[in-house]
Amino acid sequence: MSKNKYLRQLPKVDEVLDLPDVKQLSNLYPRPLIVDGVRYVIDERRGTILSMPDDELDGIDVSASSLISDLEGWLEKQYAPSLKRVVNATGVVIHTNLGRSILSAPAIDAVVAAASNYSNLEFDLEKGARGSRHSHIESLLVKITGAEAGMVVNNNASAVFLALSTLAARREAIVSRGQLVEIGGSFRIPDVMRQSGAILREVGTTNKTYISDYRAAVTENTALLMKVHTSNFRIVGFTHEVELDEMVALGEELGIPVMEDLGSGVLIDLSRYGITYEPTVQESVRAGIDVITFSGDKLLGGPQAGLIIGKTEFVNRMKKHPLARAVRVDKMTLAALEATLREYLDMDTVWQKNPTIRMITAPADELKTRGEALAKLLNDNLGEGFTVTTEPEVSKVGGGSLPLAELPTTVVSVRCAFATANEIETILRCNELPVIVRIKEDAVLLDPRTIQEGEDRLILDAFNKIREVVKE
Ligand SMILES: *Cc1c(COP(=O)(O)O)cnc(C)c1O
Repeated sequence: MSKNKYLRQLPKVDEVLDLPDVKQLSNLYPRPLIVDGVRYVIDERRGTILSMPDDELDGIDVSASSLISDLEGWLEKQYAPSLKRVVNATGVVIHTNLGRSILSAPAIDAVVAAASNYSNLEFDLEKGARGSRHSHIESLLVKITGAEAGMVVNNNASAVFLALSTLAARREAIVSRGQLVEIGGSFRIPDVMRQSGAILREVGTTNKTYISDYRAAVTENTALLMKVHTSNFRIVGFTHEVELDEMVALGEELGIPVMEDLGSGVLIDLSRYGITYEPTVQESVRAGIDVITFSGDKLLGGPQAGLIIGKTEFVNRMKKHPLARAVRVDKMTLAALEATLREYLDMDTVWQKNPTIRMITAPADELKTRGEALAKLLNDNLGEGFTVTTEPEVSKVGGGSLPLAELPTTVVSVRCAFATANEIETILRCNELPVIVRIKEDAVLLDPRTIQEGEDRLILDAFNKIREVVKE
């Protein structure tokens, strides 16, 4: 039979759409997508015929029903959500690429309630008049941090942007050269300053800056003294950094506000859990910093948000700035943030309630027990060809927070006789429920620190795919 004959036998779109099995698919998929899919699989079959040598065409099935399984596969792939759950087995707690912090159960409930019902988002129920969306978290923020006032915007990048635009547009902000950092993605302090209209006055050197450098740089046009947390890197060795107290004293003497971008913004003393000490938000407030900004989804362990706290005078100016509307936070975020902040009303129990803090402070012996349990599950079920062991390792906090902190953990190490570590990593990552792992030498590592309850079984399911995929 000639190529043309097969091509002519290909079904018409309507013919495929009329098949009962295809009609059934409209219970699962939107009709326009099914029509696109039918066109796609017919075209694909046409392409196959055209590319095959004539003598191999014999017996190729061009019936309408032969296209159904291709169509189902195409629809499944097209209609799968793009944003999907993954298992984070990397041990990096605040993993920016994997969504940073996960929320506690009360925070999730608050999001669902805010999303599914009307609320008093901007309505003062006592007065029966228009209210402010900042009111819902301001008193909590004030209570927890000790600041005079507070507000919330979309993320910390917009918090810094709003603060600089409000306090230093067309005027100078003095920053130490050692703090002109890039946080990741496209957030670079000098670029954000330029965009906000603030004029950057760099002082000091990369490794050493003194308060006298700030004093010498002050002019009539100076609007702000700014300190930036260097977050993801540290300068060690021959260094000198200006203390908060010194900056506040200079600011007060000259009548210039002092701002600090804290980045991660931790509210509890992590050294109590044996982790590298990280200056807290409360310390900056106590030192008298006028405006402090930090993230909601880093060490705070809440939703993506930018928190701004400080003196009422400055916070009120920011609330009224036209940009505040452009960077305002939505009701689901506010709901999650309020629930997260409530957990900080008792600093002694936050580590039990907040998932981010719980993972960071997880005791080494607990991680060892959980690592061994996962190793046993894999060992008992994976069968021949797999070598599963546990070994001591370190986890990272991530998110540019505490870059030097190495949290002791026990990882599960898996090697496979018929697949390399890179192949295993790819198969796990491309699984229907992706499992994201670390690779070390010729093994993949699974860190129980970031593996959630109930996920051990899902990890086993993903590993069971390796045999299928490699055999194919
Ligand atoms: C992370 C970080 C930012 C950006 O915060 P986002 O919440 O990601 O917008 C800004 N400044 C510092 C110092 C940071 O660490």
